[in-house]
Order: sequence, then C-alpha cells, then structure tokens
Amino acid sequence: MRTTDEVARLDALRQLNLLDTPASESFDRITRMAAQIFGVPVAAVSLTDSDRQWFKSRVGVAEPSMPRADAPCSQVVETAGMVIIPDLATDPVYADSTIGRKGFRFYAGAPLITADGHGLGALCVLGTEPHAATEPEIKALRDLAAMVMAQIEMQHSLGRTDPVTGLPNRLQFFENFDDLARENPGQLRFVALIDLARGDQVDSLIRVLGTNFIDEFVKLAARTVAGLIGTHRTLYHVGETQFALISEPGHSLDSYYAILEAGVKASVVASSARLVTTLTAGIAPVTLGTMRSRDALRAAHSAAQDARNSEGAIGVFSPAMDGPHLRNFDLLRAFGTALEQDDELCLAYQPRIDLATGRCIGAEALLRWCHPTLGDVSPAEFIPVIENTALARATTAFVLDTGLAQVRAWQVAGLRVPLAINISAANLEEEDFALNLQLLLAKHQVPAAMVELELTESAVMADGDNGLARLEALRAIGVRIAIDDFGTGHSSLAYLQRLPAQIIKIDQSFVRGMGEGNARDRILVRTMISLARQLGLQVVAEGVETAAVDAALAAMGCEEAQGYFYARPLAADVFATWYRRFNATPRPAHRAA
Ligand code: C2E
Ligand code: MG
Ligand code: MG
Repeated sequence: MRTTDEVARLDALRQLNLLDTPASESFDRITRMAAQIFGVPVAAVSLTDSDRQWFKSRVGVAEPSMPRADAPCSQVVETAGMVIIPDLATDPVYADSTIGRKGFRFYAGAPLITADGHGLGALCVLGTEPHAATEPEIKALRDLAAMVMAQIEMQHSLGRTDPVTGLPNRLQFFENFDDLARENPGQLRFVALIDLARGDQVDSLIRVLGTNFIDEFVKLAARTVAGLIGTHRTLYHVGETQFALISEPGHSLDSYYAILEAGVKASVVASSARLVTTLTAGIAPVTLGTMRSRDALRAAHSAAQDARNSEGAIGVFSPAMDGPHLRNFDLLRAFGTALEQDDELCLAYQPRIDLATGRCIGAEALLRWCHPTLGDVSPAEFIPVIENTALARATTAFVLDTGLAQVRAWQVAGLRVPLAINISAANLEEEDFALNLQLLLAKHQVPAAMVELELTESAVMADGDNGLARLEALRAIGVRIAIDDFGTGHSSLAYLQRLPAQIIKIDQSFVRGMGEGNARDRILVRTMISLARQLGLQVVAEGVETAAVDAALAAMGCEEAQGYFYARPLAADVFATWYRRFNATPRPAHRAA
C-alpha cells in the first residue's frame, strides 16, 4: 500500500472515532452470527490501526488487539479483497504467524470498506480445523461485513459526531455509556461534564464577535481538554459549549476530582476567551448498571450547574438532591403499599397467535398498576425499579396467583388459555420457587403445561449455574420456559442450547424495525428464526403491528406472534369476549389475499 494511501486510510479510520471504544451489542450480534455460520469458535470485527489489529467486537478472543505485522486481516485491508486460508499450517505465509502458532488452522476475512473506498479492517473468522469455505459461507461473510459497514456508517452519519469539533457527540456518549454499563455492571465510574461558559456569556460573545468566534473558541477548548485527558480517552461534545468524559475504573472521588481540577485550571489558562467566560465542571459518581446514560449525563450537568450557582469551579452530584432518584424511591415505597391493597394492581392479557392457523392459542399476563395519585404507572418504569429489591418476589407471587386463578376461571367457562407469566432474576434465587409454584398450580387446579415462564437473557445469566439449576427444577415440574426480549441481551444461540428453554421471544425492536423496512432487522429476524428452529426452539415474535409483518413472519417459518395487529393487552373480562369472536372468524383471514 502506498504511504499516502495509508495515511488517508488511517485518517478515515480515526475520523470514525471507533478505536478503543467499548464493545457494542450492535456489532457483537453480527460477530456471533459469523461464528455460528462457520461453526468456529472465533470471530471478530478487526480494525487495522497503524501497528495493531484492534477488535471492535470479538467472540472467543480474550485480547483486545494483536500485532498488525503478520495478521491476515492486514492483508485483507491491503488487498481490499476477501482472504481465505483453508489451512494455515500449510500456508507458506501464515504457518509461522501469530495466529498460526496459536494453533488456528482456518481463516476467512471479508474487507470492511468505507463508501470512500478506504479499507478499515476485516470481519474475520478463525477455526481450529482446516476448512474449505463453501460459496454460501463466503457470501454470508461478505453480507455480514456489509452489515458491519452499514452499522459503522449509520452510527457515524446519524449525527454521532459534532460537526464543529469532530468529537463524538451526546448520542455516542449514551451508546458508549450503555455498552460500558452492560460490560461492567456494579463498577464505580465518574462522569464529568465541563461547561465552558454560561448561556448569557455565549449569547453576548456571539453578539459581539459572531458565531465563528464561538466555533473557534469551542474548537480550541476541545483540543486543549482532549490533550489534557490523553489520546486513548474519549472526550464527548455533548452541548454547544459542553464536553463530557467517563473516568477509567479505579478512581476515587478525590483522585478524579484532583485530575479534573488540574484540567480545568489548564484550559482556563489556555483559553482566549477566559476574561469573558467562566468555566465550571460537574462530577457524577455512577455505579454502572444502576443509572441510565441520560440520567448520568444529566447528573453531571446538574452538578456543574450547582457549581455555577455557588461560584465554585467544580460541583459533585449528590443523589439525595435528584428528582428521578426521588421518583424511583417514591415508586418503590408506593409499590410496597400497592401489593398490600387489593385495588391498585391487576393483570392485562395479551393474546398470542398461532401464525399457521391464525388462531389465538394463549395469552401473556402483563401487570398493570393504577396508583391513586400517580395514576397509571407503566411496568416499563416500575418493574426495573423493584426488580432488584425484595418486592420482586412478592410481585411475581401476586401475578402467579391472579393469573392462575384467571386460567382456572376461563377453563370453567370453557376457554383453554395457556398463560405466559413474566418472572425476574430474583425469582431464580428463591430456593423454593418451583415448590411454591407447584402448590399454586394445585390450589388453582391448573396443569403445569398451561404455564409458561418468561425471563430475559440477563435474568437467566444473573446467577450463573444456580439460575440454570432452578430453571431445570421448573422444567421438571412441567412448566415451559421462554427467553423474553431475545436478541437484546448478551447470550448467543449457542448458549441457549445449554438452557432448559423451549421458546424464544424475538424482541419487538427487531420486529418493528422489519416493519419499517429495515433490511438489517429483516435479516436478523430471519436468521434468529432459522437458527432457533435448528436448535429445536419454538419462536414467538413480539410487537407485530401490521399485516405485512404478520405475513412476512409466517413466510419465514415463525410459529407464533403477539402484537397490536392482533390485539392490545386486554382486561380479563374483555379477553373472553374477544377470544370467542376472534377464534370464530376463519383465519388467517388477514393473509387470505
Ligand atoms: P414484555 O414481557 O416484553 O411484554 C411486552 C410489552 O410489549 C408489553 O408492554 C406489551 O404491552 C407491549 N406490546 C405488545 N405488543 C405490542 C406492539 O405491537 N407494539 C408495541 N409498541 N408494544 C407492544 P408492557 O405491558 O408495558 O410491559 C413492559 C415490560 O414490563 C414487559 O415486557 C415485561 O418485561 C415487564 N412486565 C410486565 N408485567 C410484568 C410482570 O408481571 N412481571 C415482571 N417481572 N415483569 C413484567
Ligand atoms: Mg414478556
Ligand atoms: Mg418482550
């Protein structure tokens, strides 16, 4: 590769602000799929930096990077073409390379090329056996590489970078923060926000000196702050004159405060506008996984605001002062009371449809809470708040008791409605959960086969082998296990094989994306369905809102579906009437045409 090409290529790579960012589920999903398609243990999105191959996403590799020198991915970039090595051991170039020496035998890499023609790296797979790649495998790898590029360009073009400073912006901050939280739950980090000037100072600067001056001022400040925090740390441009950063692990509040203070002083000295602006900063201590990215940034922002109001340079966020935390606290207390009342909580039932016959063949119980003063509170808000507390168990107990009583009541009225019930990670920690469920089934005279328990992937994995043992115990009593919101968590289909689950429920985000014409979501849904079926799992699609999606899912071989297209979650008494009418109509009427 000519040196000038290589300089432009590296420039293009750096512009994307991808290097040294945290792993991201949107890429990991593609990497996992590549490994599954080839049936190999290792796959990676490997970006070719000046001296290293850095992995934006990886399965089966512990190291975040490897030397560029003798990596076949580097050849992919240099030739801008596919590289396939059926047997590394007999390959004259790679037999003695780093990966060859590690015992890998098979390599395939597809180039990641930008719209401008710059090669960024490769989507590659590595196997421990020699392998002659088939035409469909090669095509799949090329398609997946195109999906990686679509993802990269979409992230970039969807305004992930600030046009003035070229720094990653607020959206990118949210995404990186969420990825970081998923990877390191429970870790203490600090989010810092640096605000260069008060709103009125910015206004008067613009009036006197024009917007160009502000742009230059912000650009210079960005360079100064970026220089101070070092090249391997990301600075985000989150507001007109605001920058944010996330601390490395291992800092205490004192140590991080000291670093930020030194940085603030240095940038004040360097700033040309120092006489007419006042810079402040805020720090928010965040335990990863307990706070959403938007809340973390808002917390740092409000700390900076506090500093401004008290004329200090740096403020520290105190959760006691914070509204949403108070709201969560209020919800927690009020929900405890709701569980003791008999009129605040009830269940809604969303029909589940068999796509082949178009008939309703069951329902999912969804909790509804109507608080006397807070009004209707969505489970999407209150479940996450109570899920990690002692209230989770009492909640599931209420849902099971109410739901099973309803199944029995329908049975008596001549309706057979198997019920899916959502449970939490905390339930898997209850030693006697399966036993209590058996007692409840007996109490309501409902056969275990009428009950399905839904858990998210992260709930299953929260307690590792203990969780698996509890799931086995549940399966042993005859209830079915479904993995809810599949595709949004961390598990792979390979991992699913180890779970005693019979059903996966494809998350509605993919199904909705498919309905909006998103080709990538369509491919993902199709792949999830076909791989799940190969693993002997039943597939339910959630969030079906249109006839087109219903028909597409049926054509893909998806067995069941739920969504507003068929029915919204219904009150218990409405459900029976709806059910009789729906199942009396010949189906699938909506697909007849
Ligand atoms: P989920 O279990 O994935 O339930 C599906 C959610 O999607 C429900 O929201 C449902 O009303 C909504 N939905 C169904 N079809 C459509 C559609 O076509 N379009 C759209 N946009 N949405 C659709 P809901 O009732 O607000 O529940 C949210 C989440 O709260 C549930 O997601 C579940 O994770 C949790 N949840 C609800 N009830 C319980 C419960 O009793 N126990 C536990 N542990 N969690 C619950
Ligand atoms: Mg569910
Ligand atoms: Mg779901």
